[in-house]
Amino acid sequence: MSRLVVVSNRVADPSQPQSGGLAVAVGDALQNGNGIWFGWNGEIQEGAEKSGVTLERSGGVTLATQPLSQREYDTYYLGYANRALWPVFHYRLDLAEFDTAALDGYRSVNQRFAKSIAALVDDDDLIWIHDYHLIPLAAELRKLGVENRIGFFLHIPFPPPEIVSAVPDHVWLFDTLHAYDVVGFQTEQDASNFKRYVEQTADSAGPVTHPFRNGTRKMTAHTFPIGIDVDSFVEMANTKKASDRIRRLTRGDVRNHIIGVERLDYSKGLPDRFRSFRRFLEKYPDQRKKTVLMQIAPPTRGELAAYAEIRTELEQLSGAINGAFGDFDWTPVRYIHRSVPRDTLAALFRGSKVGLVTPLRDGMNLVAKEYVAAQDADDPGVLILSRFAGAAADLEEALIVNPYDADEVAKAMHLAVTMEADERIDRHKRLLARVRGRDISSWQTAFLAELRGDATAKP
Ligand code: UDP
Repeated sequence: MSRLVVVSNRVADPSQPQSGGLAVAVGDALQNGNGIWFGWNGEIQEGAEKSGVTLERSGGVTLATQPLSQREYDTYYLGYANRALWPVFHYRLDLAEFDTAALDGYRSVNQRFAKSIAALVDDDDLIWIHDYHLIPLAAELRKLGVENRIGFFLHIPFPPPEIVSAVPDHVWLFDTLHAYDVVGFQTEQDASNFKRYVEQTADSAGPVTHPFRNGTRKMTAHTFPIGIDVDSFVEMANTKKASDRIRRLTRGDVRNHIIGVERLDYSKGLPDRFRSFRRFLEKYPDQRKKTVLMQIAPPTRGELAAYAEIRTELEQLSGAINGAFGDFDWTPVRYIHRSVPRDTLAALFRGSKVGLVTPLRDGMNLVAKEYVAAQDADDPGVLILSRFAGAAADLEEALIVNPYDADEVAKAMHLAVTMEADERIDRHKRLLARVRGRDISSWQTAFLAELRGDATAKP
């Protein structure tokens, strides 16, 4: 019987609650079959280059993991994936750093992973590879004679060709995508940027046709917007524990709780958001003591300078706002630099009148969908959403804003905290239908149907 072999940079234990979007989505996809999940176990070990694969069963899934060496971690993970590709794919060429050692590390970890996977797979297994850490993996597998159907899903944006072509060796990197049978993107804009990239770099004259052809191989590129497990989020927001938390959050004089939740990443637009909140307090003084912005921003990739800088900037901004506007009985910004479990988040979302999701660029953004799912349908809050989040392509009834425009975001905050119940209920009903219509299981069903070449399967 054919198995699903999922590959991602990090493997998470499916029996444990997960915080990242990818981990939740992949864990769910694997529950439906006799799957294998391959990737890094999160450990750094001396001599890891020569280590074998550790196999263990957990939550109905076989986990196949390997450690990384310090050098591999520094080059493949920090150096190339997160110092070069992450900023470029989030339209931040100004933050990208390229160096040959990092690229060499990226190539060699992909080669090492390919050898391990080739030894694990049977002929009729489906292989589904995730995200920017592993773009060349299928090409490495093909070199080893693996002829299985292989799919790739990019969880982050794909920028226009004018940006990605700044990556040294971009022709090599993106050529390797043609070793896949299916390549999936979050939004139409990402897929169309990729198609334009292929057209602009094609060395043959004449039009580029879809499916893309590379020698005898055909590759299709489509959009598969990722979603959430709606019912489990609704459930988490409706427990007794959640109600107790909401009561604790909302007692006191503050009527308008505004919540933001994201890893402390420069793509998430947190300093711009704090400046917008400051503008809101300046422009609408009557809202001052009634409103609090709670920002949960757990640390991420702290070894990289760009992340350390944004942390300092955010601490200064929140301190300055609290110093300028706060009073003995009111602190306008509550900034929490720690990870918060998802069931607590569900309660905080439900207890907050406004969900503020204003990334400067984001592949999809699951927090936006979780905020919608967590609301009380009879008295829902309002979602403010950046037009540069992938989710904005679908969630039209949110208040869509330009996160760079502090006046516009401040105005949207005011509109959100003063919106009448009828309008809130109407917007929320439509948003929830959209979040349900594109949930986690429709995402994986649609991708796997395409990967199997099963034209009749419906998402
Ligand atoms: N999350 C969490 N605890 C936190 C912060 C985030 O559980 O303290 C979860 C959040 O609920 C969401 C995921 O992490 O499911 C973040 O996914 P998203 O697509 O919004 O952003 P990403 O981190 O993947 O860029």
